[in-house]
Amino acid sequence: MADQSMTPINEQIAELVKLLNDYSYAYHIQDSPVVPDSEYDRRYKELQELEAKHPDLVPSDSPTKRVGEKPNNGFVTVPHTLPMLSLDNAFDDDSLSDFDERIGKLLSIKQIDVKQIEYCCEPKLDGLAISLRYESGILVRGLTRGDGLSGEDITSNIKTLKSIPLTLRTEEPPAVVEVRGEIYMPTEGFERLNAMAIEKGEKVFVNPRNAAAGSLRQLDPKITATRPLVLCVYSIGYIEGGEIEDSHYDSLSLLNDWGFRVNPLMEKVQGIDACIEYYSKLEAIRNELPYDIDGIVYKVNSIEKQKSLGFVARAPRWAIARKFPAQEEMTQIEGIDFQVGRTGAITPVARLKPVFVGGVTVSNATLHNKDEIARLQVQVKDFVVIRRAGDVIPQIVQVVEDRRPDEAYDVVFPEHCPVCGSDTEQVSGEATVRCTGGLVCPAQRKESLKHFVSRKAMDIDGLGDKLIEQLVEMQLVLSPADIFLLRNKKLDLLKLERMGKKSIENLLEAIEKAKNTQFNRFIYSLGIREVGEATARTLASYFKTLPALMSANEEELINVGDVGPIVAQHIRIFFQQENNLETISALLNAGVVWEEASTNNEASELPLIGKTYVVTGSLSQMTRDEVKDRLIQLGAKVSGSVSSKTDCLIAGEKAGSKLTKAQSLNVPVMDESQLMIFLSDLEA
Ligand code: NAD
Repeated sequence: MADQSMTPINEQIAELVKLLNDYSYAYHIQDSPVVPDSEYDRRYKELQELEAKHPDLVPSDSPTKRVGEKPNNGFVTVPHTLPMLSLDNAFDDDSLSDFDERIGKLLSIKQIDVKQIEYCCEPKLDGLAISLRYESGILVRGLTRGDGLSGEDITSNIKTLKSIPLTLRTEEPPAVVEVRGEIYMPTEGFERLNAMAIEKGEKVFVNPRNAAAGSLRQLDPKITATRPLVLCVYSIGYIEGGEIEDSHYDSLSLLNDWGFRVNPLMEKVQGIDACIEYYSKLEAIRNELPYDIDGIVYKVNSIEKQKSLGFVARAPRWAIARKFPAQEEMTQIEGIDFQVGRTGAITPVARLKPVFVGGVTVSNATLHNKDEIARLQVQVKDFVVIRRAGDVIPQIVQVVEDRRPDEAYDVVFPEHCPVCGSDTEQVSGEATVRCTGGLVCPAQRKESLKHFVSRKAMDIDGLGDKLIEQLVEMQLVLSPADIFLLRNKKLDLLKLERMGKKSIENLLEAIEKAKNTQFNRFIYSLGIREVGEATARTLASYFKTLPALMSANEEELINVGDVGPIVAQHIRIFFQQENNLETISALLNAGVVWEEASTNNEASELPLIGKTYVVTGSLSQMTRDEVKDRLIQLGAKVSGSVSSKTDCLIAGEKAGSKLTKAQSLNVPVMDESQLMIFLSDLEA
């Protein structure tokens, strides 16, 4: 926003109110926010501060006076029996302590004992609030929160959710009970939904919250039924003809008995220090949870104390949400760099005005290819939303259209490779633009060498990216086999930056050691398109010898579990190229060897043929890679993700979402000790 210091206060307020109301409409009604929450929250705070200084200038349509938006999208609107409010926010420990002090004071004025207040701590699920009404134990209505006073009737839609009981599991249900909770979309379902949308060329959702909101507010319940939505309840809103428990915690246990899902991480604690500890504990595991949480909600546990504390305009006094640092932030694209990869693919990478998001400062984000640019409709100089959740690489999820500056311009792909100047080409049907220079292109050469020496390929210790770049620039290494001839170029090596005698010796030793490799590593190191580490392992255990692999035709290749027609074609083409054959023979001549597996063991005799395993968590007796090797040698396929087709999950310590998923799909799970027995039985 421009410098506001000269604008009269009432106009500043009016402008902020309009901006926030527009954002709120897009967020609550259209399920399509135009800015990230962090930006909304900043503006909201700005408005709150202005209003606090000028209480006489607060307009009646200020968002600080309201909850959500008036529903208006085709559903019938129904008033809530009791308003569904929002929550006050605390963005740091100090404001959380202020909240505790405030409660202490208010209660002591009312002469209620407040030595150490008991709080119920709950993860703040990032979905949308819902109220469910049960009459004599039967679900009669589901309403969204709407503007807090009335919500949209989405009963037909919510009935499609398996986590919503249609009747309460109790012999003696209250005459009326209204249960409140959050409907959310687990991360995995969200990713699947978006992957499908991209495939069909449909609009993708920015985050799981919007996906959940958009899915629930479908006019056709059949669509909602296909969406992976879950309800977790967090309070009883209203009850008639039944007893309410004395504490919030107990009322949630009661709801659990009645058939609702309650978040298992919920805890009862004494005093504010324990609340702060709970926050740190949850923040540490936030990224491993199979769903998004955006903070912690603290509630005074005693229902009696809650009643005596009451409400302010839009939130209860007895609860507060302590927000986690944002996982979505807004920043500007300053320019686009085009990077050339190992296979010549030219990737546009957005250079960003550095922004702190998801715990790190992000200054670059890939835009992948032309399709992605078209999908996002992104231009250079645009303001964009960056999402970084967990360890996932930061993504540009959205353009902030109303902030597009006049100087914004289209992303234009280079006609010539930015590194070697060769023509670029785009194969029809592919989104990727490529440099046609092949190994003439230093960028491709550097990238393929980096891949060749990487840990999962030939694993040459000490030969890092910087060193490869120098070796290529000094023309000491032009192809992978040259690495093994470096021992004859010691004098040249001394000219490299920061390389002394000792480090050269160490490097040459590591290179010698790497000559003794494994067949699967060798295949992977060749950098055949779309042959990743797992496929290389499968190919090695299937073909056993290099000549067998090199002479396999496409039909034979497709017979290998992990290989589809496109990969088979890439493999065939690779082994038909003269320069690749030369590289392979130069490597063998340079002394690269591996122990060949015996070939008398026919693939069909292997005990785990046709079985798919997934390995997760940390193991103490073997590394995950060693386990994968042994399973593959026994004929199994090892996959990276759990699905209903998985035959078994090997789960080590601290297994996270894969274990949860396996359990939910009833996939058998083996721990490390069971695995050891299983392997020794099979290999006996
Ligand atoms: P809120 O989301 O901060 O908190 C209240 C909500 O928390 C409840 O309604 C409920 O749905 C949820 N909740 C989750 N777990 C809960 C639990 N255990 N107990 C109680 N409630 C729980 O407040 P709000 O009023 O719903 O909305 C404000 C939020 O919406 C802010 O985060 C704001 O950034 C965002 N927003 C964003 C935009 C935008 O343009 N990006 C616009 C408007 C609002």
